[in-house]
Amino acid sequence: MRRISVFGATGSIGVNTLDLVARSGDQVDALTGGRNVALLAEQARRHGAALAVTAHPECYADLKAALAGSGTEAAAGPDALLEAAERPADWIMSAIVGAAGLAPGFRALAQGTTLALANKESLVTAGPLLMAEARRQGATILPVDSEHSAIFQALRGEDMATVERVIITASGGPFRDWSAERIAKASPAEAVAHPNWAMGQRISIDSASMFNKALEVIETKEFFGIESNRIEVLVHPQSIVHALVGFCDGGLMAHLGPADMRHAIGFALHWPARGPVPVERLDLARLCELRFQAPDEARFPALRLAREVMAAGGMAGAVFNAAKEVALDHFIARAIPFNAMAEVVEETLTRLSAAEGFTSAPDSLDSVLAMDHLARKGAADVIAGRPTQQG
Ligand code: NDP
Ligand code: MG
Repeated sequence: MRRISVFGATGSIGVNTLDLVARSGDQVDALTGGRNVALLAEQARRHGAALAVTAHPECYADLKAALAGSGTEAAAGPDALLEAAERPADWIMSAIVGAAGLAPGFRALAQGTTLALANKESLVTAGPLLMAEARRQGATILPVDSEHSAIFQALRGEDMATVERVIITASGGPFRDWSAERIAKASPAEAVAHPNWAMGQRISIDSASMFNKALEVIETKEFFGIESNRIEVLVHPQSIVHALVGFCDGGLMAHLGPADMRHAIGFALHWPARGPVPVERLDLARLCELRFQAPDEARFPALRLAREVMAAGGMAGAVFNAAKEVALDHFIARAIPFNAMAEVVEETLTRLSAAEGFTSAPDSLDSVLAMDHLARKGAADVIAGRPTQQG
């Protein structure tokens, strides 16, 4: 029986992971969450976890009370998250949302474990550092993002030297067919209403703005070591084909599956074998057709920004992600309009491009976190300097 920990257990990926872990019969060691301590405590009881950690110290008393008599230890705060990452585990799910997931995932690699990585922000902010740490510690990182799991599966047994290109698909989100004028005025409720995937609030809005796909292009480059000019994005409204790999003989290997994250999570959970996953089976005859189209970078500038970030290298990814997180917070709070998110990210990148370290590859986690901090402040300044704040 393996010992498993789940970081971000109370989120969309965390809940799906625990659903599969309950079926796999693995033993749950540590579970972490944020403010939803009622769910965290319920999960800890149901799975007999040894430890439950909330990221927020002010939530400790509630968590401890909710765990009374359960046999699960309670802990809180960023240091407790790092300590949880040091506890021996055979498989750890990294599913905290945002750059907050970087440090715990990085720490978990030190024990040479298998890290199932849903937290794409880790690779965007500190890809080279994270991949080098995994190699140094003999740890394995498995992709959980559906597109990256798809690429990983299509590459099994293939020689990377024969790969010509990688294509990741995007549903296009709820605003795929909206005019630029209508997109500019979109509300958080409209942005969160993803047509195909049930996901957390933040990634759902990132899907609507295509920032999610922008992060994923960078994630592809960092995880698979593929040059940015070989990575393509195709809008595919049905979300059935998740990614394709093109080889030097002109062949394309595509991965198809239902829009259900339990497929990608299950692949990582059972890896290197395949195991049963209770997702819907595709009925291709009923589906009839699969449509693909080029993305529109005029209405969705995030993809262009991702290419600029990859060309800049250094710590541009950390700035990009941090500025995006700040802009997203302000959009959710209705302090800036939808289309301002990309403007804020672009302006923050421009302003910070002269900052010390922007163009150098990060040499430590601390330097990444310092750049992340600087970029958050930079993005907040950009927002504060905007002529009109509107909701
Ligand atoms: P959710 O918002 O649903 O869940 C996020 C999790 O992180 C929750 O457990 C939340 O706790 C916790 N959390 C939030 N803020 C912090 C913090 N500052 N410190 C520690 N923990 C925190 O996100 P998703 O499950 O949708 O996404 C998780 C990750 O997986 C993201 O990186 C996302 O990009 C990636 N991903 C998600 C997919 C999906 O289908 N959802 C698909 C592919 C990738 P609480 O809720 O208790 O406050
Ligand atoms: Mg994805």
